[in-house]
Amino acid sequence: MTGSSGENGWRIGIDLGGSKIEGILLSPDEGELARYRVATPRNDYAATIAAIVDLAARLMQDLPVRASIGIAIPGSISPLSGLMQNANSTWLNGRAFDCDLAAALATPVRLANDANCFALSEAFDGAAENARSVFGVILGTGCGGGLVVNGRLVDGPRGIGGEWGHNPLPWAAPDEYPGPQCWCGRRGCLETWVSGPGMAADHTRLTGRALTAEEIVARAKGGNGEARATLSRHADRLARGLAHVVNIIDPDVVVLGGGLSKLSHLYEQLPKLVDPHIFADRSSIVIKSPRWGDASGSRGAARLWDLSVSQRRSGS
Ligand SMILES: [Zn+2]
Repeated sequence: MTGSSGENGWRIGIDLGGSKIEGILLSPDEGELARYRVATPRNDYAATIAAIVDLAARLMQDLPVRASIGIAIPGSISPLSGLMQNANSTWLNGRAFDCDLAAALATPVRLANDANCFALSEAFDGAAENARSVFGVILGTGCGGGLVVNGRLVDGPRGIGGEWGHNPLPWAAPDEYPGPQCWCGRRGCLETWVSGPGMAADHTRLTGRALTAEEIVARAKGGNGEARATLSRHADRLARGLAHVVNIIDPDVVVLGGGLSKLSHLYEQLPKLVDPHIFADRSSIVIKSPRWGDASGSRGAARLWDLSVSQRRSGS
């Protein structure tokens, strides 16, 4: 162990998102002492690394000891190639991001997928505290997932544990197949249906009206029939996707995160919509809203040095 691996209890967690980078400083007694946000330099790898280095320096500026650094990333570092994969911030893919960050920060870093960090945070002291198995879902500009069992991330030899967003929409109706083209190269991925942009694209295809997910939600609240129908189709597709996961890992708790986790109707409707697809005599799936919300990515990242799990370590 070194001074940067977290034994002094000071931890920095950084959440690298597609539009913003957020960093927090956690004290040994779990207090959140600082939080900063900067815009993500899009399509610029070197500037992305420089922005993370600047943020870490700001968080550490008044600290007499070195804090450990964990980073939530879109995609993951492939354990097979050592390179970034699956990031929808595609300028990061194919890069030795963990090694480059460790060199720029001059300290070891641990990286994990942002949905994994979300699941870890909500399982540790969030909405799913004390649950044995937790499936964390990110529904925002994309659709991610992370699985925590007995307090540990289930990551896997390919680094894709919990990734459900690029499986096809299950129990697809004829008019849902083969489905929209996805940025990952496949067609009909769950992400193309249940993410915010996926919901918006579905609305446009059926109505000819181009609205954002936020605008659709606002219109549905105002009683607009087309918008309400779009939300119904979205909830049904999300339920089918969740049912697939439940039939494989049977989690104690599902926690929703990302922008669409603010849609209160999902917590009411999803259990009923999931039920008919579950291979059990009784279902009653538990779906919770997040405790930490947008802060869960950075909070989970700060915990990557807390546990002996399979996150990538570099520079040590
Ligand atoms: Zn895809």
